[in-house]
Amino acid sequence: MKKIVPGFIITLVILIGCIIPSLNDSHLVDYMPTTKVMGGWQYRNGDSPVDKKGNPVWLTDNNNVSWENFSIPGTPPERDANGEVWVRVKLPEGNYKDPSIYFLTYNQVFQVFMDNKLIYSFGSFDKESLKKSPGSFWHIIDLPDKYSGKYVYIRMHAVLLSNTGLVRSFEVGSRGNHITNIVKANLITIVLASMFVFVGISALFISFVKVREGSIFIYFSLSCISAGVWLISENSIKQMFFYAPQFWTYIKIISQYSIPVTFSLLVNNLLENRYSHILKTIAKVHLYILIISLMLDALTITPAICTLNVYYISFTISMIIVIVTIAKSYSYWNTEIRTFSAGFAILCSFGTFDIINWNFNPRHSDLFLTQWGVLVFLISLCFVIILHYIKAQDKVIVYSEELKSKEKVLIESKQQLEFFANISHELRTPLNIILSTIQLLNLYKEDGSIKVIGKDTSNYFKSMKQNCYRLIRLVNNLIDITKIDSGYLKPKLENQDIVMIVEDITQSVADYIKSRGISIIFDTDVEEQVIACDSEKIERIMLNLLSNAVKFSKPGASILVDVHGDKESVVISVKDTGIGIEEDKLNDIFERFVQVDKSFTRNHEGSGIGLSLVKSLVEMLGGYITVKSEYGKGSVFKVVLPSILTKETYKVSEPVEIDAVHVEKVNIEFSDIYS
Ligand code: ADP
Repeated sequence: MKKIVPGFIITLVILIGCIIPSLNDSHLVDYMPTTKVMGGWQYRNGDSPVDKKGNPVWLTDNNNVSWENFSIPGTPPERDANGEVWVRVKLPEGNYKDPSIYFLTYNQVFQVFMDNKLIYSFGSFDKESLKKSPGSFWHIIDLPDKYSGKYVYIRMHAVLLSNTGLVRSFEVGSRGNHITNIVKANLITIVLASMFVFVGISALFISFVKVREGSIFIYFSLSCISAGVWLISENSIKQMFFYAPQFWTYIKIISQYSIPVTFSLLVNNLLENRYSHILKTIAKVHLYILIISLMLDALTITPAICTLNVYYISFTISMIIVIVTIAKSYSYWNTEIRTFSAGFAILCSFGTFDIINWNFNPRHSDLFLTQWGVLVFLISLCFVIILHYIKAQDKVIVYSEELKSKEKVLIESKQQLEFFANISHELRTPLNIILSTIQLLNLYKEDGSIKVIGKDTSNYFKSMKQNCYRLIRLVNNLIDITKIDSGYLKPKLENQDIVMIVEDITQSVADYIKSRGISIIFDTDVEEQVIACDSEKIERIMLNLLSNAVKFSKPGASILVDVHGDKESVVISVKDTGIGIEEDKLNDIFERFVQVDKSFTRNHEGSGIGLSLVKSLVEMLGGYITVKSEYGKGSVFKVVLPSILTKETYKVSEPVEIDAVHVEKVNIEFSDIYS
């Protein structure tokens, strides 16, 4: 599958590329005999007066004086302001079977008369219809068997006065021959257009299969499809698909105007967004031109086709910019861009040759190179897309390997988490048993049930209890860190009054802190501020910061807890006048297992997890934490939380309960501090 699709496309394109030149071989394009009527054309400007019966008088007027001569392909040199003109042409001698006229004309409505009778009409001469361009179409007009030497009168209304090529072709012959000739004459366009559409649809198919590298395939596919559809809509062969002049005009406009949109996005993708600003602007400009043209048409201000000149100018400028952009990125050129540039350069030079040959060389050759340029460019585009496809395939292999290893890591961390959860249970249960046993012994001691003679054991009991708490804290912190790392710990956000939560927590530890000779003050500039927060996590954060403030302060110091709120955020700061932190250590303290004082003789206990956990918890709530400190003077930690509400709850929560559970939490969080 990996190489089948691109292989198939490229073989097909090359095969068709080989067939096309042979189509041009004269013996293959053996045009069926018809008679081209190039000379003997005459015209009169304006519309014909009508006789009493309402028949146009010019139909029967054989006085040659007022008819002017011109030859086709061409446009009658003068037309009146209405764009109306009468043309007459003498039919050649001949006796074809099923005689008919093959008439190719651009952008006009017309009627054909013969023997004083209307024999064919296209479009309508009423005022409203004349505003809409009928587009370029060929017509096969049936003739009576005895047509030789008779005049055919054509009444025409050119919808676009500026449009040249009023009459492109006029041939008399058998009906079947006309059709065969038309198909043969337009075969190259048909083949090229079908190739574009086919390649485009194939690329679209690839883009659905490939998810990661999809956009380049989508832009490539849309460029190809719009180019293919435009080629068909430009060619009069379109009416073989279906006959709806106005509809084809819109298809032409939409497909033609979208080519630069998708093309510049394709180039942008190829250049890996290096000049995305310029290329995306080009895409936007052309998209606007398309939308505006369709709107002008819808509001009947001007037919969409009238904006073609604007399109051509912006298209030329855009293509020059695209070329410059590709050239500027020369240093980044890889095989894909090189192939693309070569194809594009050939297309541009072939196109330029045609423009100069047909417009500036009076004795120009009939050579028309653009279609070959288009073919070369299409083949180069196919190569580019196949190179990209193969690259993408390789990337997919790399990604899938990456994915596998990530999956492995995930499974490992899950196992780790399960292990920690088990261990925590195993550690906590015996710890809790020891703790409750100590408490029970203490109780018995106090009520005199047991007596320890001679020594005061209360300090031993206290130390045992405190070290149990410390172990519990360590286990809790380790588990939470693991849970956060693996994304298992999620905040339970509720709309609550953050000021009250912080105040309650501070109050709950105030007595304990004061008992250590440290003063604590709570202050706020807002009475109440309801935000989405998780009170349990806030409690954890606050107890951690407060225990640090106490741990690193000496008796006589003071702690200030302050809540400041505004529209955007809430800032909770915990300020102490403790030992402070050295400046070069400030960045490290939120790192895991970092302690500023690592010496064995340090006078503070801890594991270096507290602040890293606090940081993770604050970030989980959508906020961040900062620290400022002056060594020897004190520190201030600021927790900034976003002031937003969750949709779910509007109830203001109950105050943090200062119950046994909370007391236990305080005991655990403050367990590092020796009394
Ligand atoms: P520990 O469990 O060691 O306290 P933390 O992560 O809570 O771990 O803190 C890391 C380090 O940051 C501490 O060891 C201490 O050196 C420093 N620190 C934290 N808070 C303060 C504070 N209020 N004053 C001075 N130093 C502090």
